[in-house]
Amino acid sequence: MEYRYCLLNKGLIIVKITVLGYQTPAPGPGGAGPGYLLETSSGVLLLDCGSAVYARLMQYFPVHKIDAVLVSHYHHDHVCDIPILQYGALMASVQQKLTKPIPVYGPQSPQAWADRMAYETHTKFLPIDEQTTLAIGGVSISFHRTQHAVECYAMKINDGVHTIVYTADTGPDTEWKDFADECDLLICEGTFTTDIVPGGKRGHLTAKEATELSERVKAKRLLITHLSPDIARSAYLEDARGGFRGELSLADIGQVITIE
Ligand SMILES: [Zn+2]
Ligand SMILES: [Zn+2]
Repeated sequence: MEYRYCLLNKGLIIVKITVLGYQTPAPGPGGAGPGYLLETSSGVLLLDCGSAVYARLMQYFPVHKIDAVLVSHYHHDHVCDIPILQYGALMASVQQKLTKPIPVYGPQSPQAWADRMAYETHTKFLPIDEQTTLAIGGVSISFHRTQHAVECYAMKINDGVHTIVYTADTGPDTEWKDFADECDLLICEGTFTTDIVPGGKRGHLTAKEATELSERVKAKRLLITHLSPDIARSAYLEDARGGFRGELSLADIGQVITIE
């Protein structure tokens, strides 16, 4: 098997994000659920691991090169490839490429799901909450609880100069406080459009609300993600239009964003 390594041009690029998948609640033809590859000058992280994300990841890095997996919450679209990653880690262990368990960080609830993040000696589970700050690959990562049906955490990645915030799944009532303020990149969910949105209390945003949040926190760039393959990309763009004055794009598989 050949891997296409994406090593950073050290000193120029601080953080590189590759979208491995972004679709929800189920991927479209040839698509993939949420998964983001984060490369720093000294580390490789995987944020969420939805359907088909593992196969996409293999285009860039073998599993034993992954320093950590960060899981925002245990809805299927974000974790369904974790068991597959664990099987990949099993084979890497058998071949002695993987010599210690891959850390999988995630919420403590639902407990039955948290328990599944550990797999023999191949992956180990480490709990996160709002008090957690991780230092991996030269960046610090902190967490903020979002309004969602299960315990779910947004993630803030900071290299000392730049900040990337990934909202994970969030309803419109999350109290963001200063968590995402003036971030260099906001990876924000925008599951619905204003005219296709469920009533009642919601655990997701519209594309328009994603732009409004970006404007409110003064994000420099916005990547709208967590998109349904059953809603036209043009409809998302139309919904988002005019709501954000900075650089805006819709997530796409293989898309690369560098923070320099
Ligand atoms: Zn969810
Ligand atoms: Zn989701």
